Amino acid sequence: MPALSPERTDALIALASRLGREKFAPRAARYDREASFPFENYADLREHGLLGLCIPESCGGLGADYRTYCLVAAEIGRHCGATALTFNMHSCAMMWSGTLADDLPMGETLRREHELRRARHYRRVLDEGALYAQPFSEGNLAASGKAPFGTTARKVEGGWRLNGRKVFASLSGAAHYYGVLCTEEIAGKEPDVRDTLYIAVDAAAPGVEITGEWDPLGMRATVSRTLLLKDVFVPDGEELMPRGLYHKAAGAWPHMFMTLSPTYMGIAQAAVDFTIAYLRGEVAGAPPGKKRMQVPKQMAVAEMAIKLEQTWALFHRAIAEARIHPDKASRLRALATQYTVMENANDLCRLAIRTCGGHSMLKSLPLERLYRDSRCGALMLPWSAEICLERIGRESLYEPGERDE
Ligand SMILES: Cc1cc2nc3c(=O)[nH]c(=O)nc-3n(C[C@H](O)[C@H](O)[C@H](O)COP(=O)(O)OP(=O)(O)OC[C@H]3O[C@@H](n4cnc5c(N)ncnc54)[C@H](O)[C@@H]3O)c2cc1C
Repeated sequence: MPALSPERTDALIALASRLGREKFAPRAARYDREASFPFENYADLREHGLLGLCIPESCGGLGADYRTYCLVAAEIGRHCGATALTFNMHSCAMMWSGTLADDLPMGETLRREHELRRARHYRRVLDEGALYAQPFSEGNLAASGKAPFGTTARKVEGGWRLNGRKVFASLSGAAHYYGVLCTEEIAGKEPDVRDTLYIAVDAAAPGVEITGEWDPLGMRATVSRTLLLKDVFVPDGEELMPRGLYHKAAGAWPHMFMTLSPTYMGIAQAAVDFTIAYLRGEVAGAPPGKKRMQVPKQMAVAEMAIKLEQTWALFHRAIAEARIHPDKASRLRALATQYTVMENANDLCRLAIRTCGGHSMLKSLPLERLYRDSRCGALMLPWSAEICLERIGRESLYEPGERDE
């Protein structure tokens, strides 16, 4: 994956920071209260070319490498967690079909075919401002990678016929396309994870339906309702990756599943930013006066700053190591990073409330939203906190193929 120059990476982070401070942060409370999608934020992202952040430069995008994406996304997450989380869903569809797929082995004909297909997706994003969602979860073992997806794709004349149900489809109702993972139905063959197909479903196609209530604890502006697919026809050419390639990517490029952590890295930073501003008496709407003179507050800020630095250090190391076929230590570190970021983001929000005190958790201030949003990080499949623990433990103790008697 080619890296951007440090100057370009810094300029993109600065852009995200400006949009975050001036636009996303002031709107965040309203979207959260309404549990509505941040359309205005997406108009800003679109206007500044950021919907094409992870589209390769050769295809007209900004060509962000993995590390640049993560740093930009963390900066967005610092100002609006739900915008960063949904931006991840869109950007991953671009990155996985883009620079990540470029790393994967493919025959010449297949690569040409893939390049033609992805160019169509990219043109929609760059010319029409299309948004792509990433609904993989089904409420079963599939999104954790332990079983084939229950959503199926049957090859028919001119395309595919899809059936299934996806839960927690972030951007539901806002996305123009849903990048769905499903299992290819092959006559005489049991469903197999190796036959996973990654394909874009037009939100307006007959048979696509969004159902269910959306009134969750946190990440409310992601609007992650249920997506039903009933005999949906998807024309040939809508594949985001060639048949069978997603499964190979999952094994060869494991950091592809760490891309949810930047959102929560940003939230962790925001919790510390808030605490410092609050104790200095600089938060608009907070009770007047400084609270920084009390030693217990200073100690708590130190504890938070240290935890934040530890989290950033691991995060920076892991995002710099992302590549095809990372060694075992890097792979386990990626899992440890996801676990650490998700758990520490929530813990830093907890400490922030304890340190700032009662008034800090009033609904009129952003900290209680950060706290609620941060709680969602550890639930994200396929690398939920529990799965990270399970894999780090097992893979530390067993080499591939090893079994106990
Ligand atoms: C705000 C929000 C937005 C989301 N957006 C999306 C989205 O855009 N796309 C998408 O695909 N999903 C999305 N998800 C879904 C998310 O990735 C998980 O799939 C979902 O939270 C799991 O919920 P569940 O009720 O199915 O829990 P379960 O799957 O039952 O999981 C409960 C817990 O059990 C653990 N667990 C599950 N399977 C295993 C296992 N095999 N081994 C060990 N532990 C396991 C997990 O750690 C999990 O925390 C979103 C979730 C939230 C909260």
